[in-house]
Amino acid sequence: MNTWFKKSFVLSAGLALILSGCGTPSDNAPTNDSQTGPGTTQSGNKLNVVTTFYPMYEFTRQVAGDHANVTALIPAGAEPHDWEPSAKDMAQVKDADVFVYNGIVEGWAEQALSSAPSDKRVVVEASKGLQLMEGTAEEGEEAHAEEGHDHDHVMDPHVWLDPVLAQKEVESIEAGLVEADPANKADYEKNAAAYIAKLKELDTAFKTGLKDAKRKDFITQHAAFGYLAKQYGLTQVPIAGLSPEQEPTPDKLAGIIKFSKENNVKTIFFETLVDPKVAQTVSTEIGAKTDVLNPLEGLTDEDMKNNLDYLGVMKNNLEALKKALNE
Ligand SMILES: [Zn+2]
Repeated sequence: MNTWFKKSFVLSAGLALILSGCGTPSDNAPTNDSQTGPGTTQSGNKLNVVTTFYPMYEFTRQVAGDHANVTALIPAGAEPHDWEPSAKDMAQVKDADVFVYNGIVEGWAEQALSSAPSDKRVVVEASKGLQLMEGTAEEGEEAHAEEGHDHDHVMDPHVWLDPVLAQKEVESIEAGLVEADPANKADYEKNAAAYIAKLKELDTAFKTGLKDAKRKDFITQHAAFGYLAKQYGLTQVPIAGLSPEQEPTPDKLAGIIKFSKENNVKTIFFETLVDPKVAQTVSTEIGAKTDVLNPLEGLTDEDMKNNLDYLGVMKNNLEALKKALNE
């Protein structure tokens, strides 16, 4: 399939050259010189930008404005930590003018990029260059798989949940779009600056909203809020590990229940894309209520019905944290 694809691309590009060399009238000349072959969905000269999960899609869409068709590979309602690309997704990765991913979450990305090579594609790993924190998949499945190791150290990918680091991801995406389409540099810069201004407002809202919180600890379903917690002087106590599938051992669960009782925790947070049963077990055990803290790993159909976007969900997260940390 790959070879066929390459051949057909070379053939159509060659044909276009021959045609224009033969004095094709200018209104018939191939204006879409970035055409990549059969089955592409791009229209006009717009960039074809393929992103992975929701925040990458949203940040890219904000910077691209009208100059790109932006798609997300990982559909609404899917949890990106355990998602794998299909053959159709791989074809999209191959066709992309720009491919945007966060890094780490998309464990499949590097292999997908190398097995779907492209000369023109600009690749943006949005978390690249950020100072990542190390997470510990302590007592998790991965640690058990490696005999003789107590800990398996992995980097925490959840930078998009920190409004300050999110600005850096937007800047990386801006640089990638400019590289792929320098003609529209001024627009990408303007769009990025406008969105970064909104992220700065969000950062200010978190700072002022959380600085006088009565308590600093909050219990989450998986360890997605480490960067956010660090930015605003809070402590995340996660039930699962860096990935939601890393379910806690009975010992770890007992520790969280003990911690919650000792610290009089009244709210246990759960997520919209992951089975909340463990979070519910903890809340029942300590007599706490549950509330949603959304790690923005994907929007649900309901989020979309309510016209929620990154900024809207983050504002809801702030309200939920303010409530839980002040009761
Ligand atoms: Zn996560």
